[in-house]
Amino acid sequence: MRLILLGAPGSGKGTQASRLKDHLQVPHISTGDLLRAEVAAGSELGIAAKEVMARGELVSDEILLGMLKSRLSRDDCKDGFILDGYPRNVAQANALDALLASIQQPLEAAVQLEVPTELLVERIAGRAKAEGRADDSPESVRTRLKVYNEQTAPVVDFYRNHGNLTVVNGVGELDEVFTRIIEAIDTAASVG
Ligand code: AMP
Repeated sequence: MRLILLGAPGSGKGTQASRLKDHLQVPHISTGDLLRAEVAAGSELGIAAKEVMARGELVSDEILLGMLKSRLSRDDCKDGFILDGYPRNVAQANALDALLASIQQPLEAAVQLEVPTELLVERIAGRAKAEGRADDSPESVRTRLKVYNEQTAPVVDFYRNHGNLTVVNGVGELDEVFTRIIEAIDTAASVG
């Protein structure tokens, strides 16, 4: 299954993607995690990305595409993948389309987790306490939500127009939301 999970920061897509990986037996590729690993390793890429990430802005499309190309070329992606955190803007969505076409691995489903803004803010504040992420400061959170609304929300329309979008209600218990996602994927697979 080749799947992308879309949703605002705090929508729960990371948590759900990591459960889906066990269910679908395909790797969970989080571009945020890949970038955080580069930052932790102190690589050239990590050094370039660190400040941008801390501010809650988007790292360059070029860096992301290079990173993604290399990750998708690994053996464990031959039966599919779950993309979490990519694409973040329409240029990335077009780049992903071209990349997947070139490796003959077209996308099978795009699932958007829908969560009201008030709840997003509450969840991110909870995570800031629990995990202490560098980009969970109030100012960075504001920027990330703004970036989502301005740049990532149009990506949802991109997939809607391409006919492979399913919107899932992201409010509720983890198990409940997980079941909704599985149902959405099963429906997408039987249609597509
Ligand atoms: P995430 O863990 O998905 O919330 O990502 C954390 C941060 O990494 C984001 O706020 C961005 O700074 C950066 N990032 C992750 N994915 C992307 C992407 N597809 N394009 C640009 N920046 C990204």
